[in-house]
Amino acid sequence: KKLGIALVGLGRYSTNQLAPALQETKNCYLAGIVTGSPSKAEAWKKKYDIPEKNIYNYENFDKIAENQDIDIVYVVLPISMHAEFTIRAAKAKKHVICEKPMAINEEEAQRMVDACNANGVQLAIGYRLHFEPFNKRVMELGQNEVFGKVQSIEAINTSDMTGGSLDVWRLDKERAGGGPLMDLGIYCVQGAIYTMGKPPVAVTAQFGEVTHPAYFREVEQSISWKMEFEEGVIADCKTSYADENGKSTLEGQAENGWWRLDPAYVYEGKKGQTSKGKMDLPNIYEQVRQMDGQAESFRNNEKSIVPGEMGVRDMKILMAIYESAKNRGERIEIQY
Ligand code: NAD
Repeated sequence: KKLGIALVGLGRYSTNQLAPALQETKNCYLAGIVTGSPSKAEAWKKKYDIPEKNIYNYENFDKIAENQDIDIVYVVLPISMHAEFTIRAAKAKKHVICEKPMAINEEEAQRMVDACNANGVQLAIGYRLHFEPFNKRVMELGQNEVFGKVQSIEAINTSDMTGGSLDVWRLDKERAGGGPLMDLGIYCVQGAIYTMGKPPVAVTAQFGEVTHPAYFREVEQSISWKMEFEEGVIADCKTSYADENGKSTLEGQAENGWWRLDPAYVYEGKKGQTSKGKMDLPNIYEQVRQMDGQAESFRNNEKSIVPGEMGVRDMKILMAIYESAKNRGERIEIQY
């Protein structure tokens, strides 16, 4: 049976990536929507042939518990709303996929995991790169020590938000929890960890200069940080919302070779190189693979390869990075 997914929040990611991907998935399909906008509900209903009974708003959402068509709730809202809707979905006994970053802090993320466990449902995070060939190759190169032990890592993920509207939730601390570290830097944190196959033992961090004060009143414009792994391996990372030459790279240097993805995190057009030559891998529709993979694990009642606990771990690291940056680069050790 194909599992029915309800998307919660019909913004850009749902509209441009997830809904089209759900037209190609084999293990799941777009069964319902949850939106605060009656006009979006009407448009999506027509476009995707969604029955009226599978359309909810944020108020009547809890009634989804009674809907047999919906097996999975996929939370695609501003970050501060992830916890509320994940917990409400869990109480409705639906499996949950929650977008990254999981929440605005570690405590919230842990409550989400606890709610899913208490209600006997699975929770997975929208970490699509775990289902994607180039990033999977990096996991293999790093974790299997194909070129010997990893010696250093560099990960950069930047974009430019300074041409757009000031009124976006990503610039609002309350709704975003933080700036580019939360939204883009998470990819660098993930990239370094899946290169090493283990999380860092300590971090240090510095906020960058604010050159666009109109935009960055509440959240950081940029931040650079180092993640320190056992045996002293360092991952050098950077993210920014004001880099007109947006970068998306993940590099590893090992004893007998190196690799580099550029771009590493964007949806399409990934490229990779190693000291032995070009990575000959396909670009795939990664949201299709991600949702099919997650739906399959839910169907088998198995933990996803990107479970809620991984999201909690990452929140712990993001919070440690902020703590270090606020304390002028103090080294923050992390216990798991
Ligand atoms: P968006 O701003 O385009 O969409 C957000 C949606 O939430 C909108 O439909 C908006 O109407 C709705 N919303 C409900 N209450 C709101 C409120 N109080 N303030 C603002 N919007 C409100 O954002 P997006 O780019 O679609 O991002 C949504 C989530 O998806 C975020 O967690 C983001 O990090 C994640 N995302 C993940 C990827 C990925 O590759 N995995 C890519 C893009 C976004």
